[in-house]
Amino acid sequence: MKKFNLKSKISNAVSKMSGYVPGEQPDSSGWIKLNTNEFPYPPSPKVVEAIAKEVGANGASLRLYPSPTSAKLREQVAKYYNLPKEYAFGANGSDDVLNLVIRAFADDKKSIATLDPSYSLYPVLAKIQGANFIKIPFKKNLEIDFEKVKNCKANVFFFTNPNAPTGFGFPIEVVEKIVSEFDGLVLVDEAYSPFASYSATSLVKKYPNLIVTGTSSKGWGLAGMRIGWAMANPEIIEVLDRVRDSYNLDRLAQVAGVAALSDKKYYAEKRKEILSERTKTEEFFDSLGWQYYKSSTNFIFFRPKRDGKSSAEIAKNLFEFLRSKKILLRYFASEKSVCDGIRLSIGTPAQMASFKKAVLKWSKGK
Ligand code: PMP
Repeated sequence: MKKFNLKSKISNAVSKMSGYVPGEQPDSSGWIKLNTNEFPYPPSPKVVEAIAKEVGANGASLRLYPSPTSAKLREQVAKYYNLPKEYAFGANGSDDVLNLVIRAFADDKKSIATLDPSYSLYPVLAKIQGANFIKIPFKKNLEIDFEKVKNCKANVFFFTNPNAPTGFGFPIEVVEKIVSEFDGLVLVDEAYSPFASYSATSLVKKYPNLIVTGTSSKGWGLAGMRIGWAMANPEIIEVLDRVRDSYNLDRLAQVAGVAALSDKKYYAEKRKEILSERTKTEEFFDSLGWQYYKSSTNFIFFRPKRDGKSSAEIAKNLFEFLRSKKILLRYFASEKSVCDGIRLSIGTPAQMASFKKAVLKWSKGK
């Protein structure tokens, strides 16, 4: 064979991009993991039962392909959000939905827009597709520049609500204002809505340009199963069905998702504990005089201070100090708008006690 030049074979779009870098997932044990906003409690026991039942005594069901449309999961998603089943779609994590939406609705002439900061996967997905990516900065105090959003001319506007990585949330009226004014599709990424008091799913029937996405990863303790969903007008669902993998959710994920969404009581109790811990953590930051965004999620974005000042250097210093104590948070070194702060996932009371103890040590310079 002649000398093979792989670089020249890569598609134009992919040759110009780098992949998404997810939060650290350590292999070793002993970490207090507060970096990727996972649920700090195990999933409902009903989920474990459903998976065991599906596997059965000898795993015979695993020989067979799963439902290609994840039919029962779609039904359960629709029921949970009070929509007809034609409005629901199942996916391999909500990242899969985001990817499919961009695959179906973006190209070199159809651009994607979002607020800055937002979930940092969106620009990576847009680049794969060769689509232009527009970032609309928040105004002061995380206010939205509605005029810029309205006039950005993107084909799809991605609205992370509540926002990541700040944790700040916007009420339904704000979502409705954007969706009703925007001349394109609006995707509301509700990965964290289980910890907020609102959801845009109630608008899905009213607006044919609205897609709302959700995930079992944050609010249902199932990040390891990769179960996400979307709700939108059936015409949008039909387009997503065209571009998804034929079997984009495995058998175990499908039954786990159904069981999780069915056990409202278990999750209501656990989420209450997370919200109570969130309040205590905000009070802790108040006591230190550190700035943070009021959170509507299971995480808090805060700006640590040393000698009364905060900066990227100080944030990085605390992040590294905590890491050396095996307490893992998320620091976004390359994101200008948030590199002077750190994102902290809310853990169990014991995990949060260890976090606070370590922070106090750092504050005292020990
Ligand atoms: N949206 C946002 C805002 C997120 O933070 C995440 C998790 N990183 C996701 C979507 C994707 O979640 P998953 O693929 O686990 O469903």
